[in-house]
Amino acid sequence: MVPGHLWRLTPDGEPTYFNKQMMDFLGLGVGDTDKPDMSRRGALVQAIVHPDDAADMADALEHCLVTGKCFSMLYRLRRADGVYRWMSSRAEPMRDDDGRIVQWYGLCHDIDDQMHAEEALRRSERKLQQLIDALPVHIWSWTPEGELSYVSKRLVDHLGLSDANLEDFASAAQELVHPEDALEVQRTVANSIETGKAFVMRYRRLGKDGAYRWMEGRCEPQRDQDGRIVQWYGVSLDVDDGVRAQEELRLAQENLARASQAASLAELSASIAHEVTQPLTAVITSSNVCQRWLTTEPPNIERAQKTVERITRAANAAADVVSRVRALFRQSVGTRDPMALGSLVVEARDLMAEEAARRRVRMEVEVESDLAPVTVDRVQIQQVLINLARNGLEAMESVASDRVLRMRVRRLGEVVQTEISDRGPGIDFPDRIFEPFFTTKGHGMGMGLAICRSIVESHGGQLWAENNDPLGATFIFTLPVDAATARFSHDGE
Ligand code: ADP
Repeated sequence: MVPGHLWRLTPDGEPTYFNKQMMDFLGLGVGDTDKPDMSRRGALVQAIVHPDDAADMADALEHCLVTGKCFSMLYRLRRADGVYRWMSSRAEPMRDDDGRIVQWYGLCHDIDDQMHAEEALRRSERKLQQLIDALPVHIWSWTPEGELSYVSKRLVDHLGLSDANLEDFASAAQELVHPEDALEVQRTVANSIETGKAFVMRYRRLGKDGAYRWMEGRCEPQRDQDGRIVQWYGVSLDVDDGVRAQEELRLAQENLARASQAASLAELSASIAHEVTQPLTAVITSSNVCQRWLTTEPPNIERAQKTVERITRAANAAADVVSRVRALFRQSVGTRDPMALGSLVVEARDLMAEEAARRRVRMEVEVESDLAPVTVDRVQIQQVLINLARNGLEAMESVASDRVLRMRVRRLGEVVQTEISDRGPGIDFPDRIFEPFFTTKGHGMGMGLAICRSIVESHGGQLWAENNDPLGATFIFTLPVDAATARFSHDGE
């Protein structure tokens, strides 16, 4: 009844007993294969052991019989229906009091199903391994503490580190990171291990061809049901071509920006020259005329005086242009007085009214009542308001209907905040529009917002832009409420 195959041999290895299980399996008894010209053992091995295993099995058994050592082996046995099945076989000698071997007792277990399951598992592992090796990425894993626990063959080959064991590999791979990126890589990894957060980073690494290439590494933790990190899994892939293309694009853009900046400067100089030349020409012409009136006989003082007036007007116009340009670039240091921002906004609306009407834009102004005063340079803040309003009007050029420019002033904590919103297409380059010479307009100079921002900042405020939902842009600037007034209103006025 024992669930296994039992057998017994004489001290010199002749089989003398098979249990019933074994005889049922083989379909034969211990003496059924006897042949006159060979030993019983030899005949049995030939009849029941798989031809590929028979020689090894016979040798191993012979060795045990000679040395008295235990026998242990895997081999295939032929079942009664001719099917071979894997067996795990063991045999031990029984000795008498003097240590002489009296019998050998053996036991076989059918492990065929287990062998097939293992083989299937091995096959699937091989497939998985092939997949990992074939994928054009480098794969690795870490223990929760960040010790390297696996590294794909591709990565090993790529770094030319096939001889290194896992521990050496980790430190060798670290040394291949570009010196400029090494510290950042170490910091990122240490931070992830400490916080359990995934990371994505780019760094340069030396390949075995001696060249640094940009890599992108991504790593994520795998957690168990309780949220504890079991393993980190990472990939890195070569993004060198992409990074270099991006860098070239950036350089090209920079060159372009420089070129258009130079163009804007040329344009600016041309327009200044044009504006100044006109009154100067008038000054010269009028001076000649004046001279003529004075040199006539008798001199025509009345006419000469009129001409001198024209000269003064023209000279003033030229001086105006120059001071306007200076104000644009150096911000005239005018006087600052406390005033209600609301009235400045209303003034700006009035100044823009005509242009707005021409562009079929409705202007809405909303000013909170009893606003605390702000101390500002009236002309400069007016310049900011007009600039922002004009940008808004221009932005709505492409909009078919419902053109509204909204200006709103209210107090928020210690500042007075002004918002100017339009219903145009919104801002495409929020990071760049405040840069000098940045413009998307055919004839824009790109100085407006840069100047506005420096004016607002010189007043202790801030200027920024936001896109509206669903459309349009809002430019917002703050100005600090007068310190004295702020305290005053806190006291309950
Ligand atoms: P420019 O005279 O070229 O318009 P600005 O400094 O006034 O110079 O503006 C820079 C850029 O910012 C503009 O060319 C435009 O692309 C963008 N911009 C400014 N205001 C708006 C707005 N209200 N809506 C959308 N884009 C805007």
